[in-house]
Amino acid sequence: MKRVLLIEDERNLARFIELELRHESFEIVVETDGNSGLELALREEWDAILLDLMLPGLDGLEVCRRIRVSKTTPILMLTARDSISDRVSGLDSGADDYIPKPFAIEELLARLRVVFRRQEKAAEEKRSTLIFGELSIDLDARIVSKGTETIGLTKREFELLLAFMQNPNRVLSRETLLDKVWGFDAAVDTNVVDVYVRYLRNKIDSPEQESCIQTQRGVGYVMRK
Ligand code: CA
Repeated sequence: MKRVLLIEDERNLARFIELELRHESFEIVVETDGNSGLELALREEWDAILLDLMLPGLDGLEVCRRIRVSKTTPILMLTARDSISDRVSGLDSGADDYIPKPFAIEELLARLRVVFRRQEKAAEEKRSTLIFGELSIDLDARIVSKGTETIGLTKREFELLLAFMQNPNRVLSRETLLDKVWGFDAAVDTNVVDVYVRYLRNKIDSPEQESCIQTQRGVGYVMRK
């Protein structure tokens, strides 16, 4: 169930939105001033925050700015002051969207759905991407990038990098790496790991900088910043 926090001081409007959202099977909590709204926004996890601009206590822009210091919760600003400058300052303060009052509830629901979809998509992308420093692996496309540059790796190099990036800061023995990359019954010597680590370093490291794959003498290798 999606949890929505509504910070709105117009009680009739707040009540109306509350009933409509509950009807749509959202869990909704209402706060009617800026300070208590901010407190609850920070203390609990929300899927979205609907935030009125003109509020007693802290105004909506300030609430939004303070939420953004520590949280990325989607924020939709609600405001009667439908001017360009309000819109711009609303978005500048970190709001994800802006809904001028009066609005139809269908419009609000549609915007909320957009926010949720965007959030789910971002979560999905995060799941299928591994990141370590400047390096990233797109697991679906099997593409390795360093910053904006794509790095071409062979299958073994790719699997080796994957093993490191799935276990950052963990020392991996040659045997472990051999199992992960070449498979248990591969009739290869552990020296092959050293050879491939060298290949990989040549491709992913920056010259003049210490390799992100460090040798742990007598043990194995560790990917570390
Ligand atoms: Ca208000």
